Amino acid sequence: MTFSSLSLHPALLKALADLNYQAPTPIQAQAIPEVLAGKDVMAGAQTGTGKTAAFTLPLLHQLLNQAQTGPSLRTLVLVPTRELAQQVYSNVCHYARHTPLTAVAVYGGTSLRPQIEALKGGADLLVATPGRLLDLLSKRALSLSQVQHLVFDEADRILDLGFKEEVSQILAQLPRQRQTLLFSATFDDSIFKLSHRWLTDPVHIEV
Ligand code: AMP
Repeated sequence: MTFSSLSLHPALLKALADLNYQAPTPIQAQAIPEVLAGKDVMAGAQTGTGKTAAFTLPLLHQLLNQAQTGPSLRTLVLVPTRELAQQVYSNVCHYARHTPLTAVAVYGGTSLRPQIEALKGGADLLVATPGRLLDLLSKRALSLSQVQHLVFDEADRILDLGFKEEVSQILAQLPRQRQTLLFSATFDDSIFKLSHRWLTDPVHIEV
């Protein structure tokens, strides 16, 4: 299989060629068509499998196919830690480099002010840790009312770090009508139950 056979936007294919990615990894081959089709997806995938591109590429593709005059926050990626936020953000910037789309990352352990300023510039995609996102929402630094796609990256770690309540508060501010993707290295009972509350009729993928 090739990336072009997945019908991804030419600007994304160009970025993948720059990065010298030859072919989709198994998680990418399975997840990308489902995400492009607008389905909710629940995927079991460890770090190193290419999971970041598996959700980022089809979501950027969808953003590119919507006519927009300026950036509006349409995609939210929730991550457990600041390190993962920085890593996902860096990947998104690589994949989006030939597009007009913009991304911002917000996470704790660093001052709020630069993140508030970055949000003022507008973003199509936001990578966020739950606690810092709630802080910024309470300061009215952003709105989630236009979000159409939500991703839980490393969902098991989000729960292990005790962010369940924060996630509930964030979900309450998101439109009900949306696409939700959940990636997790493990699926115990609690995450399985929560997934079924957070996602609608998800496609299951295991690699
Ligand atoms: P991840 O599992 O998302 O953390 O990705 C692991 C690493 O694999 C990252 O450094 C990616 O840049 C790289 N990667 C992701 N997809 C591909 C691909 N299709 N071909 C080659 N490298 C890839």
